[in-house]
Amino acid sequence: MRTPLIAGNWKMNTDGKSAAALAKAVAAGAARFGRAEVAVCPPFVYLPEVGAALAGSPVGLGAQNMYHEPSGAFTGEVSAAMLLDAGCRYVILGHSERRQFFGESDAVVNRKVLAALKTPLTPIVCVGELLAQREAGQTSDVVRSQLAGSLAGLSEEQIRRVVVAYEPVWAIGTGKVATVDEAEAVHLDLRKTLESRYNAGVAAVVRILYGGSVKADNASQLLSAPNIDGALVGGASLKAEDFLSIVDAAR
Ligand code: PEP
Repeated sequence: MRTPLIAGNWKMNTDGKSAAALAKAVAAGAARFGRAEVAVCPPFVYLPEVGAALAGSPVGLGAQNMYHEPSGAFTGEVSAAMLLDAGCRYVILGHSERRQFFGESDAVVNRKVLAALKTPLTPIVCVGELLAQREAGQTSDVVRSQLAGSLAGLSEEQIRRVVVAYEPVWAIGTGKVATVDEAEAVHLDLRKTLESRYNAGVAAVVRILYGGSVKADNASQLLSAPNIDGALVGGASLKAEDFLSIVDAAR
């Protein structure tokens, strides 16, 4: 049985004080986690204080990005080893905002995934179609191709450690949420793709999260779908109670 994962992507929000306070408030809700795994992904610079605020709690720390090289002259970049040093367990890779605003291609994401997997980090790899692609009936082709490109060359052992996040771009931060049927259909499609690229065992263990305007009031329905194994939460992860209500729906 796949353990549900609820991960909060704080994006470029919070500040030093509010980041630690938010992390503490999420950790204080640990009694509500049940069997759910919970993680928060603050901006890089707040990883140390958020890590300190989470000390001793079951909430995992994650980053929102990394570079694939281990070290060197790459101004402004952060390596997997640095994230581990800062206490991270997870790293979000290939978020649609990285793809859209920073030009990250599947090949770029793939290099990052492979680098993350050389370490104990769990990559949360995002895929998702644009509204125009959905309207043109291309959703399946787009997400399958992103999955294949972003996860190219992974061994069976490596793919088992990956978390996939299906995030329809038109649902991110827009308040528009995919219906459960729409989301479940894509999750099933992704799982079948994993089965055909690897095998049924892999397809059965890889977690596929949904992301895109997940809120307390739609989480239970989404998370009750058989192939939705958790949520990647943006806006609603910035208020502890909202985020914990989504965790409630997962346990
Ligand atoms: C996200 O950015 O990963 C996300 C899902 O954002 P929101 O929940 O705000 O739509």
